[in-house]
Amino acid sequence: GLPTVVIAGRPNVGKSTLFNRLVGRRQALVADQPGVTRDRKEGEAMLRGRLVRLIDTAGLEEAAPDTLYGRMRASSESAVQQADLVLFCIDARAGITPADAHFASWLRRQNRKVILVANKAEGRSGAAAAMEAFSLGLGDPLALSAEHGDGIADLMGEIAESL
Ligand code: GDP
Ligand code: MG
Repeated sequence: GLPTVVIAGRPNVGKSTLFNRLVGRRQALVADQPGVTRDRKEGEAMLRGRLVRLIDTAGLEEAAPDTLYGRMRASSESAVQQADLVLFCIDARAGITPADAHFASWLRRQNRKVILVANKAEGRSGAAAAMEAFSLGLGDPLALSAEHGDGIADLMGEIAESL
């Protein structure tokens, strides 16, 4: 099948905005299944001539497993475990939160390829804010703005190179 790219990160960092920007008009395959896959969207994206399956997960979230957030977290974890590549997103404006650090630590143990995405990094202060994400131990953050489009071409290139 197609290489699977999973977008992960805590709620509100801009995962769905990034998903929509990468998928563009190819959002034919939206799987909205009940249960643990709730709020998990799939689409195809053409990145530098490579077709990939892109999955937008619900936010990775600290919560008991029998809550909605707990089930969303379980869904994110299973998606990450099936991924050929994970786009781990943080919010460069908010900085690194304890939840980001917790999931980064979990992600480092999954032996998946990871691109660290520092989103909301538009404007003059964006790149500087993104650098803080280096402390997560997942390599150099790629600063971008899913909403405004800055850095998206670089991300597409990195995805295509790492698959
Ligand atoms: P998700 O919960 O991780 O899927 O995040 P969403 O994609 O729903 O976005 C959460 C909020 O962040 C929304 O209000 C978006 O408009 C906003 N957002 C997403 N990307 C950017 C960005 O690049 N810059 C800024 N400033 N806001 C963004
Ligand atoms: Mg979302």
